[in-house]
Amino acid sequence: MRTYLLPEYIVERDDLKCTRCKICIEQCTYGVHYYNAAKNIIESRSERCVNCLRCVLFCPVNAITVRRNLNAYRENYHWTYEFIASIKRQAELGSALLSGMGCDRPYLTFWDKLLLNACQVTNPPIDPIREPIEIRTYLGRKPKILEFKTGDGDIELETKIAPDLCAETPILFAAMSYGAVNLNVHEALARAAVECGTYFNCGEGGLHPNLYKYSEHIIVQVASGRFGVDLKYLNAGAAIEIKIGQGAKPGIGGHLPGEKVSKDIAAVRMIPAGTDALSPAPHHDIYSIEDLRQLIYALKEATEYTKPVAVKIAAVHNSAAIASGIARAGADIIVLDGVRGATGAAPKIIRDNVGIPIELAIASVDQRLREEGIRNEVSLIASGGIRNSADVVKAIALGADAVYIGTAALIAMGCTLCQRCYTGKCSWGIATTDPEISKRLNPEDAYKRVVNLVRAWNIEIKEMLGAMGMDSIESLRGNREQLRGVGLTDRELKILGVKMAGE
Ligand code: SF4
Ligand code: SF4
Repeated sequence: MRTYLLPEYIVERDDLKCTRCKICIEQCTYGVHYYNAAKNIIESRSERCVNCLRCVLFCPVNAITVRRNLNAYRENYHWTYEFIASIKRQAELGSALLSGMGCDRPYLTFWDKLLLNACQVTNPPIDPIREPIEIRTYLGRKPKILEFKTGDGDIELETKIAPDLCAETPILFAAMSYGAVNLNVHEALARAAVECGTYFNCGEGGLHPNLYKYSEHIIVQVASGRFGVDLKYLNAGAAIEIKIGQGAKPGIGGHLPGEKVSKDIAAVRMIPAGTDALSPAPHHDIYSIEDLRQLIYALKEATEYTKPVAVKIAAVHNSAAIASGIARAGADIIVLDGVRGATGAAPKIIRDNVGIPIELAIASVDQRLREEGIRNEVSLIASGGIRNSADVVKAIALGADAVYIGTAALIAMGCTLCQRCYTGKCSWGIATTDPEISKRLNPEDAYKRVVNLVRAWNIEIKEMLGAMGMDSIESLRGNREQLRGVGLTDRELKILGVKMAGE
């Protein structure tokens, strides 16, 4: 069938600069570039280009330019390029379209409509260079009151503190399964978590034996497929996370195609090599809050009540009530993953149309748990599209205790958001398990980049806290007085619990 799809990008090469070194041919995993021996030139098949920019950045003489195709469909406000192209693609494929990473639809990004406060005159700011600002974050159940006993001049804490996580930053690394990404990515994130004093969530594909040495900084995940879950795995993690839902694909399961299930991945997942790894949409043993409670307590029992148990849900329409149920079911941490949450592969139609923004979900869950007097019984982690340190600070002011970053960590490693993770050909060696392509990601280099990113964000977080006159991130949690809205409706402001700028 002849394609009616326009190439999305056009690859141009400055032939006078090009030395015919063929690096672009080697670097492109999508087969865009080829050598034309008859003409002794390098040529490109633009229709295959995904704009991953690998060739552009690796060409030693900067001879390549990738630009958007100026030939466009006759789009209009209603029939945009994206809708026309999707119809043409489906007319040729006859299947649901897949995509990688998070929703890219132009829904309102509430982070950009929220502004932070700063001290002036009467309450002076704190200079973070000269005064300590505490960003250490404890995650888990906290007692309502602390009781002490005294005797012989000593003061002793009498209240029993539940097991928790202690992170030196409110930034944790989001779940990415071994299989969706390769071992180099896992190793880089685990090492970065150790270096930054935070945690890396290994996702639902089990934990590779090489990474058990980092386990004090790893959160192990239990999803509906139960891949790689046994007693050793559960006890290896600093915490256990039950994945009920994911922001990129709420209400549907996961699927790692058999061709990606190598011997190694199969061994870690505890499934036969070459078979499809299917995570069913529901946990087949969870149909009520009581069922969830049973699993939470089964995991606590298995780990002798030494580890906090988190429950991750996608942010959907009734998140506040769902979160209240999860807190009452005994979870120590609730993870809310918003509509911008990323994935290795999801049906595009689900990714782009199901779920709600994380900003609204966090605000409504925090508010509901406060109203019910159970906010201290769980910590909240916000996840899904956190782009910079200001988003982190705003998430905490809206009620989160901490955030997960996934996409941002991958961008730090080299990802260019080309959204082709589902092809398994990631040219940056990230969302691929191909042994050769995976070598492109050097775990040493990637780990340093992620550590640098977190360090930079920590500095900025302290700057923002100092500007607000706060010396601890704990004082900011749910402190919506530090936020003002611009360009939001009264209803939006009410849900966010934020005043209008100028008030
Ligand atoms: S990498 Fe640059 S110089 Fe080398 S063949 Fe490609 S375009 Fe030419
Ligand atoms: S991980 Fe790789 S395939 Fe996925 S968006 Fe980033 S660069 Fe593209």
